[in-house]
Amino acid sequence: MAGSGSPAVFAHLKELEARSRTLDPGPESRAALWDATRDYGEAFLRALPEAPAFLLKDRPGAGLADVPISEAGRAFPDLLAALAEHVDGVGANGASGRHLAFIPPSSLFAGALGDLLAAITNRYAGYFFAGPGAVRMENQILSWLAREMGLPEGSSGNLAAGGSMAHLIGVCAAREAAGLRAADYPKACVYLSDQAHHCIVKALRVAGLGEAPVRSIPVDADYRLRPEALEAAIQADQRAGLRPWLLVPTAGTTNTGAVDPLEACADLAVRYGLWMHTDGAYGAAFALTVPGKTALKGLERSDSLVVDPHKGLFTPLGLGAVLVRHLEPLRKAHAFQADYLPSPPEDLEEMSPSETTLEFSKHARALRLWLPLQFHGAAAFRAALEEKLLLARYAYDRLLHMPGMEAGPAPQLSILAFRFQPPAGDADAFNQAILQRLTSEGRVFLSGTRLNGAFHLRLAILAARTHRVEVDEALEALAQAAAELA
Ligand SMILES: *Cc1c(COP(=O)(O)O)cnc(C)c1O
Repeated sequence: MAGSGSPAVFAHLKELEARSRTLDPGPESRAALWDATRDYGEAFLRALPEAPAFLLKDRPGAGLADVPISEAGRAFPDLLAALAEHVDGVGANGASGRHLAFIPPSSLFAGALGDLLAAITNRYAGYFFAGPGAVRMENQILSWLAREMGLPEGSSGNLAAGGSMAHLIGVCAAREAAGLRAADYPKACVYLSDQAHHCIVKALRVAGLGEAPVRSIPVDADYRLRPEALEAAIQADQRAGLRPWLLVPTAGTTNTGAVDPLEACADLAVRYGLWMHTDGAYGAAFALTVPGKTALKGLERSDSLVVDPHKGLFTPLGLGAVLVRHLEPLRKAHAFQADYLPSPPEDLEEMSPSETTLEFSKHARALRLWLPLQFHGAAAFRAALEEKLLLARYAYDRLLHMPGMEAGPAPQLSILAFRFQPPAGDADAFNQAILQRLTSEGRVFLSGTRLNGAFHLRLAILAARTHRVEVDEALEALAQAAAELA
């Protein structure tokens, strides 16, 4: 075999280098790629006002299998065509203002540009020494969010990939604050309403706390946790020799947008020594508005909370924030030292995001929120959020006037759950048929849920591009489907 300095080795190295350099296109190749990408993005955005909110197809996206990963590479336009057909041409349109299902996503253009720039410059946001600017940016966003939520100065947290990941961080901080050890878990009781999002129990399980007893507290007629039932459950657990630990009220449930009584929850948390971790993944962003602040009174008393900028602050998917007022347990759960890292983070001016999450090689995720916030100004976000609150009231008033309508409780934030009562036959089947018809038409995308066992339709008004005309179209489509199916 030839030595490492032999001509054969150099020849091979040259071949490898030539191939390897194709990974890094020069200015002219880049120009063509930019143009194609920009044309694609611009065509998508221009078509958006009339594009379907949902595209129902047989075996959606399955055609991707006909574009297997190749050795030689493929022409860029062919790849964009595959993207258009098999990814962007199926399922829910996450950029549409007529997406009114689940918790609608948005994707502000400036947020998308922030993502693009973060990827191009690839600044590291895990550790202050390496990425001081990216770390300061993340911390600036966290401080701003904490201030908007009413948490005290000095609160911080982490920008995670979404609400579920943010909840995992919060649960681990709460565990450290209580000093729980594995042997304590079967006694460490968790309280949430029967409307809570499933990701809380999932976070407990992933954190190894699957044995912790979870008390599902009943709700009132407006789907809010009943504080007297909560207190009774806590007292019963105390009497049984268990250890009440964690209270997770929801500030805006997924089903109906209900806000649990946060003041009463905070009082009980203080009285019984619970950590209050509030799930504001959907709803907490409304704290940017005056009416939202009133609806969310008590949010500021949380020990920790989760808010999803990829929901209520309209960023591209992949951004959920956990905010914590006690940094010690947060760091205790996550911080690490290693020989291959520079000086201990304590010596540095800013907390490093890798000290407050499981992630280490972390991209500059903050840029997808920092750029739109700075560019448009916070006032534009406050206006958009207040608009959604008002649109929900407006939609509710219109629903009340529809024949056969069983409108649920008035919206507390921007989600409505309701059902039609058919002239004859099964109401669940009737409402499911309405939903099916709207989904196959695809102009507006709604979803359903069960409340007290009964199937309900949901209208969730949160997408940045949802304005009055989109709400009107959804209401008219609903009325028409109900009339024709009756
Ligand atoms: C969306 C949502 C979650 C989960 O957050 P992801 O960002 O989807 O992981 C948790 N709680 C509520 C109330 C939500 O609406």
